[in-house]
Amino acid sequence: MKFKIIFAVLLVLDFCYKLLKVYLSNRQKDKPLPRNVRDVYDAERYKLWLDYSAERKKLALWGSAIRLVLMLALFTTNVLSVCYHWLPGNEYTKFILLIALYLLVNTLIGIPFQYISQFKIEEKYGFNRMTHKTFVKDMVIGFVLEYVLDVALYSVIFGSYSFLGVYFFPAAFGGIAVILLVSNMFSGFFRRLFNKLSPLPEGALRNKLQRLFEKSGYRLKEIYVMDASKRSTNVNAYCGGLGKFKEIVLYDTLVDHYTEGQIVAVFAHELGHFKHRDTAKLLLGSLLNFLIILGAITVMVMLPQIGSAFGFESNGLLFAMLVVLFSDILGLFSTLLMAGVSWFSRKMERRADAFAASNGYGKELISALKKMSGDDFADLNPHPFVVAMEYSHPPIHERISLIEKKQRKKH
Ligand SMILES: [Zn+2]
Repeated sequence: MKFKIIFAVLLVLDFCYKLLKVYLSNRQKDKPLPRNVRDVYDAERYKLWLDYSAERKKLALWGSAIRLVLMLALFTTNVLSVCYHWLPGNEYTKFILLIALYLLVNTLIGIPFQYISQFKIEEKYGFNRMTHKTFVKDMVIGFVLEYVLDVALYSVIFGSYSFLGVYFFPAAFGGIAVILLVSNMFSGFFRRLFNKLSPLPEGALRNKLQRLFEKSGYRLKEIYVMDASKRSTNVNAYCGGLGKFKEIVLYDTLVDHYTEGQIVAVFAHELGHFKHRDTAKLLLGSLLNFLIILGAITVMVMLPQIGSAFGFESNGLLFAMLVVLFSDILGLFSTLLMAGVSWFSRKMERRADAFAASNGYGKELISALKKMSGDDFADLNPHPFVVAMEYSHPPIHERISLIEKKQRKKH
């Protein structure tokens, strides 16, 4: 009983955190916008943005509330153990069937929310470019990929525990590190399951990007343009992959609607990431996340009374893995960890901006950032607490001030 109460409290606290975020950003609405971003929206568009963000927040909150009810139902009763005993096969097959069942339920509950988000809200404000066919295809491929990755990760934990008992930690961590590394190396391959990537055509833009790249001491293998516009009007560019498999990818929405100067400036920012090996560092961040997960599993294995409180007498490990799979119970812990990772990520973004600015692309980068936030309907003045907890990029006004400061220093 005691552990059921603890789990329920953790779930409710996680939901309270989500409520707090909505409360803070609602209060932030009444504050004046920072001076350097006031020209991004005109009054009418700002009003539209307020409606848009209110609708999105409401939908997200409904989603969290329904999830909370479901998780409370699962983790204050013995439903999971009933399911487990009902499934056929041995301990391992039962578990991978449970993962499938969980992902299926999770996906089914998610569908109406994602549908409303994409085809009602995004559509209403003119951001949706997705057809129903792409929506279904994304769901199916996403489900299969997630299932394969989950089964691989949890099989490593299951296997190491069967062989090493309570000393499974280092082996499991090593195995997970290898899986993450390999899936990161092939991130280009995974991306191609969802999108078409074609080389940027020869021409002035390509030459400029190539020259910038070589000037920084790199040999460029390929620049790709991704057909992001088949989903939404969102604009982005990134460099992904590790080692030889690195690639720079520009969204077609960027290539089609931004000036050459702006694209080169965005590219210079990406080059800054490249120079500082930021992809590899972010990978370390996600490995840290698994330290928490493995830590939580170890605690639950060492305290078998937790599993037996939910009807998992002899197989505490399976129950522990289910708890981390239904990640909400550890929600608060991952939120704290994410705050650390986001802090690092914002630091990297500032450095990439500084790199672009010190190479003379500051002015164009500012104009690209402003156009991007306008086009993507970005939050121009997020609450500092929310930024600190989960923003991977500093808010736009902060980025602009920093680039301007860097430029002043340069002159
Ligand atoms: Zn960046």
